[in-house]
Amino acid sequence: MNAWRFEPDSGLVLRSLPELHPQGHEIVFDVLACGLCRSDCRFLRPDATATAKAIIPGHEIVVADPGSGARGILWPGRACGACASCRQGRENLCRRMAVLGVDRDGGFAERVAAPAENLIPVKAGIPDRLAVLAEPVACCLNALQQVQLEEHARIAIFGAGPFGHLFAFLATRLGPVRAVLIDPDADRKQITRSFRDAAAIPLVERHAGPFDIAINATSSPTGFAQMLAALGPGGRGILFSGLRPTGATLTAEQLNAIHYRQLHLVGAFGQTRAQIGQALDLIDKHRDTLSLLADEPGNFASLPVRLAQRCARDTLFQSISLAPWAACAK
Ligand SMILES: [Zn+2]
Ligand SMILES: [Zn+2]
Repeated sequence: MNAWRFEPDSGLVLRSLPELHPQGHEIVFDVLACGLCRSDCRFLRPDATATAKAIIPGHEIVVADPGSGARGILWPGRACGACASCRQGRENLCRRMAVLGVDRDGGFAERVAAPAENLIPVKAGIPDRLAVLAEPVACCLNALQQVQLEEHARIAIFGAGPFGHLFAFLATRLGPVRAVLIDPDADRKQITRSFRDAAAIPLVERHAGPFDIAINATSSPTGFAQMLAALGPGGRGILFSGLRPTGATLTAEQLNAIHYRQLHLVGAFGQTRAQIGQALDLIDKHRDTLSLLADEPGNFASLPVRLAQRCARDTLFQSISLAPWAACAK
């Protein structure tokens, strides 16, 4: 099968690899489309930040079951089912988690092997380029479910990349709250203007607050410090994006805001199978608006170029379509 594989010495290379053989409960699915995530950026070049082993990246995967013909999206995780987190229904925090495209071969390939129970059906009316959004939308839902979105809550989202836009949209669809996107490069964000207009999401360069809830949708430590500073007394901060190790440090004064204003900080990581299902329902309900946030899928060969665009700032959600390969094979 054809696959884009990350190899530590060469970076992303197109390979013809042996066919997959299912193990245990697995099915070898046909890949229909795969989303390009910012977390895949580390696979663009061979360096110490990527993995030490060869792997096929891609974890936002829309597939078809070649047996039943069913189309669906894969929950990218594989949880042990036995650890304390799994038993508490928090499979995203499994101590033995293995993620497709990170720990196991993923979706930048014609086929992918995954447990049968990881397939979550996608309605026929949802196109592939929106179905791939189920994974990032579910990550946002997981974060928003960590706090209460009480009526009239003021929510600030720091970082107006694709995730920031998703957060602002989802928060205002989940409750009667007011959300604002904050980004120092706000004037450069022309590409998402039609989405923001349709969704009535304000975007500003800076805002001093105070806010009831704030989310960091940027890996910049500065953005995190601004988030703490903008929270009002008793405010709740969600650490969604992991912080880039830039050498920048948070000062004691900045962290003391947590003490003096009794802030609540919560982390959010990944998503559960149930949240992927909830994400698909929301995508179905808001198809037209979310379409403005996702580019048409590129072809399989365009992956490195598309991924480089996604990793540069100011892009929409990107995906690649595997459909031309499947058509050739039949
Ligand atoms: Zn992702
Ligand atoms: Zn577990």
